[in-house]
Amino acid sequence: MKQTKLVEITDIEKQKAILEEAGQIIRDGGLVVFPTETVYGIGANGLDADACRSIYVAKGRPSDNPLILTVPDEEGARQAAAVIPPTAQKLMGRFWPGPLTIVLPRKPIVPDAATGGLDTVALRCPDHDICRAFLRCAGVPVAGPSANLSTRPSPTTAEEVMHDMDGRVDMVIDGGPCHIGVESTIVECNGDDGVTILRPGGVTVEMLQEVVPHVQLDTTLVTGKGVPKAPGMKYRHYAPSAPMTVVVGPVD
Ligand code: AMP
Ligand code: MG
Repeated sequence: MKQTKLVEITDIEKQKAILEEAGQIIRDGGLVVFPTETVYGIGANGLDADACRSIYVAKGRPSDNPLILTVPDEEGARQAAAVIPPTAQKLMGRFWPGPLTIVLPRKPIVPDAATGGLDTVALRCPDHDICRAFLRCAGVPVAGPSANLSTRPSPTTAEEVMHDMDGRVDMVIDGGPCHIGVESTIVECNGDDGVTILRPGGVTVEMLQEVVPHVQLDTTLVTGKGVPKAPGMKYRHYAPSAPMTVVVGPVD
C-alpha cells in the first residue's frame, strides 16, 4: 500500500514546487492523479513500460485495454506519434486543448504496455491549466486513464478519486470539480478528409464536421456486431455499486 499525498492546487504559479514534485514522481515511475476538463486521470510515465503496468494494477484494468497519453501541446504529441498527418493537424488546431483523443501511428519508444500491443497510440491534450502545467513539469507524455477502479464510474472530484485510489497512488492533485464529466471523443483519421469516431464523447459529430467533411462512426458502435476498434468499448463501463433511478420527462 502506498502513502497517498493529497494536494489542492488553487494557484499554479505560487504552487509550482508541488507540480514539479508531481512531475518528478512521474519521471521516477510513480503514479499521480490529476484533474482534466473531462474526468480525473491516473497518470504514469507513458514511455516507461513498468510505470504503465502499475496503472493497470492500481485500476484492476485488463491489460489489452490501451491507455491514452496526455500531452501539454502538439509538441508533446510529437514525442509519441511517428507522423501527424494533415487531418490530425487540423483537428489539433481546432480542438486542442480539449476533449478529443486522436489515434496515430506510434513511435518505437512508446511501449506495448501503453498501447495494449497496438502499433498506434492515442493522444490527447486536456483543456485544463493545472493539468497542462503538471504535464509540462513531467516532460514526458503521461498515460492517463480515468482514476477509478475498472468498471466503476469515472471520478470528477478529488473526493471521488480518494474513494477508489487512496493507498494505490503516490499523489492526488485536487484541482476542483471537472466541468465536462464524460470522457474524450476518440477518433482515427482516414486520408485527407475523413475521421472515424471510435468512442463518442465531449466533442460531437457536428463539431467534427465543421473541420473534416467525412465523419463516420465505427460500425461496431452502431450494429453492436464485430470487434470495436477502440478496445475499451468492449468492456463493461460506469457500473455504480448502488441502485440507480432513471427519471424520464420534462425538467419541470
Ligand atoms: P480511457 O480509459 O478513457 O483513458 O480511454 C482509453 C480508451 O482509449 C481505451 O479503452 C481504448 O478504447 C482507446 N484507445 C487507446 N489507445 C488506442 C489505440 N491505439 N487505438 C484505438 N483505441 C485506443
Ligand atoms: Mg475510464
